[in-house]
Amino acid sequence: MPAVLDPSAQSAFPDPPPGLHLVATPIGNLGDISARAAHTLRRADKILCEDTRVTAKLVQHLGIATPLLSYHEHNAGKLRPRLLADLQAGSCFALVSDAGTPLISDPGYKLVRAALDADITVSGVPGPVAAIHALTLSGLPSQAFAFAGFLPTKTVARRQALTGYNSFPGTLILYESASRLTALLSDIEEVLGGERQGAVARELTKRYEEVRRGRCAELAEHYRKTGPPKGELVVLIGPRPKEEISDAALDQALEAAAAHQSRRTAIDQVSEALGLPRTRVYRRALEIL
Ligand code: SAM
Repeated sequence: MPAVLDPSAQSAFPDPPPGLHLVATPIGNLGDISARAAHTLRRADKILCEDTRVTAKLVQHLGIATPLLSYHEHNAGKLRPRLLADLQAGSCFALVSDAGTPLISDPGYKLVRAALDADITVSGVPGPVAAIHALTLSGLPSQAFAFAGFLPTKTVARRQALTGYNSFPGTLILYESASRLTALLSDIEEVLGGERQGAVARELTKRYEEVRRGRCAELAEHYRKTGPPKGELVVLIGPRPKEEISDAALDQALEAAAAHQSRRTAIDQVSEALGLPRTRVYRRALEIL
């Protein structure tokens, strides 16, 4: 075990003060816990977690004996007043979720809001978030992005939610369960357009990590063929291409190029000149040439 995670080593960090500490934990690889996260979990009076069995594995791995208390969406309302009273009396609680950063598509927001309203110190230890890790690996623009978490599960509501992001000039990041991936990708194709670049980032930091990149139409087609993949995943959709090239403009370029060379060379040349995916140019060429 690295010295910074070793419970017997003198810690390089000051003890966390009384208050609520939001502690990020790994999204799959236990090696991603930070030294300060481990220290905060070790020194807290209690660790508030979603599923005690999940967090037990992490604390066992770190050799931490701090008591765990289950805090999830079904008991949060009832538990909150007691937790706030303990915090006001000087307790130091760490809040974690099953994976990643608490509050990000996970419980904690109401507790943070109530703690702030009661003048309780809220601090935290940052770390993994599946959405951000997926964004960095996707190859999609990272300057501006919108994280929408899980969209509604019903088709009409999901399409309506996607419509709201149609003109967003950055990358849209979504969480989705593997079983609903193909339905989501079909809606994305329909509402936002299949020409946008996208990515599906699966099982990040785990043994079968995979990032599939391509146009949204290609991603939808791939998963329609293979069926839903296994594991946890993030779906990312790039912004609308700056200048949509119309079919009419594409036809004109193809006809001009094909007038003096083979169809194959014309396709390559037009695809490069217009910055369009070769598959789109090829499909159009088959129709008109
Ligand atoms: N709080 C977590 C975070 O910081 O990312 C998210 C919790 S949310 C309940 C769970 C969703 O996060 C999964 O359905 C999936 O969309 C995404 N996710 C979590 N871990 C992941 C991983 N290792 N690879 C890909 N997606 C992951």
